Amino acid sequence: MTSLNDRIEVALGDITKMEVDAIVNAANPSLLGGKGVDGAIHRAAGPGLLEECRGLDGCPPGEARITRGYRLPAKYVIHTVGPIWRGGGSGEDELLAMAYRSTLLIAEENGIRTIAFPAISTGAYGFPVERASPIAVAEIRGFLEENGSIEKVVLVCFSERAKECYLDALSTCE
Ligand code: ADP
Repeated sequence: MTSLNDRIEVALGDITKMEVDAIVNAANPSLLGGKGVDGAIHRAAGPGLLEECRGLDGCPPGEARITRGYRLPAKYVIHTVGPIWRGGGSGEDELLAMAYRSTLLIAEENGIRTIAFPAISTGAYGFPVERASPIAVAEIRGFLEENGSIEKVVLVCFSERAKECYLDALSTCE
């Protein structure tokens, strides 16, 4: 029997290069682009992405929206808005979990089989990656357990530190 962790992969690198059905964008509520992974995705996708995003009227924290991938290898981009870290006592954990859940739900609704996530909220939004990674892993595992349609989730890390945190989180729940 294959374990849930066999459907989860940890990779170090640039998410815009990933050859998957959908990549996830850690967006801000305007959905009109920004720094970090958001800027990289918009640059790689080209102007069509911003044009489509303009028609979406933003996205509240914890929710997600889907667009096409334009010049990206990925067919779709799922934009989600994580929480801004305010010290950990303002519902940040639950909002981060919601962002993962909303994204996976949209992926499933759109027949997406392979999906790559960045470490949502752990850059400019300041969420500590050692606290974010077990939340990400728990939400993804919980979803995969209930839904067979998503075959592969790639956790894309931009630093060795993030990779260590994900591998740690995965090793505690095999
Ligand atoms: P947020 O505002 O949600 O914190 P950021 O883009 O600032 O979003 O950071 C989210 C995570 O994405 C960080 O861990 C950052 O290192 C990482 N990141 C930045 N650029 C890329 C990229 N091109 N590919 C994958 N991950 C990236």
